[in-house]
Amino acid sequence: MGASVSRLPKRLLSKCRIRILMVGLDFSGKTTVLYKLKLGDTVTTVPTIGFNVETVSYKNVIVTIWDVGGQQKIRPLWRHYFQNMQGLIFVVDSNDRDRISEARNELHRILSDNELDCAKLLVFANKQDFPDAMPVSEVAHKLGLYSLRHRCWHIQSASAISGHGLYEGLEWLSKNISNKAPY
Ligand code: GDP
Repeated sequence: MGASVSRLPKRLLSKCRIRILMVGLDFSGKTTVLYKLKLGDTVTTVPTIGFNVETVSYKNVIVTIWDVGGQQKIRPLWRHYFQNMQGLIFVVDSNDRDRISEARNELHRILSDNELDCAKLLVFANKQDFPDAMPVSEVAHKLGLYSLRHRCWHIQSASAISGHGLYEGLEWLSKNISNKAPY
């Protein structure tokens, strides 16, 4: 797709600040998404360990990113980052059937925090380029998205390697974030 950050939806790059939290299990593809958006090229990444928080910004879009999963002790620290988040991007590896229930548990744990009550949820069903990847409808079902009440959500087929679906997902997010904070 040759995606680059300059192609971010115009709405996303309005004169308002947008704060987005991007989380998912390790190896789901978050860093690749990030670099694909930022640089237009996929970079080789190693799974992030522990509570490595990365924040990147491009113009008015601020994205905070970390791995979730198996981090009981440091979970209380997360809330600090939840404040004022307007969008939550949950990246899931559609090819990882073994950990889809762990991904589901983590997603629901995060969504239960009332700091995120108003955050719109975008799920990237990533790694759709794998021939045996779970279809998007199966990912949605296994993540329990249909059981979400009072949550504005969308699941997007994606491949962070090629860039497929990334901009479509961000477009949805930008359309649905109405409470953008002015500069
Ligand atoms: P993170 O731990 O969530 O940040 O995951 P990474 O971005 O480091 O990705 C983990 C591995 O999956 C890397 O080897 C990536 O190249 C690979 N990867 C990420 N997204 C995709 C994708 O959409 N398709 C394929 N085939 N591989 C991907």
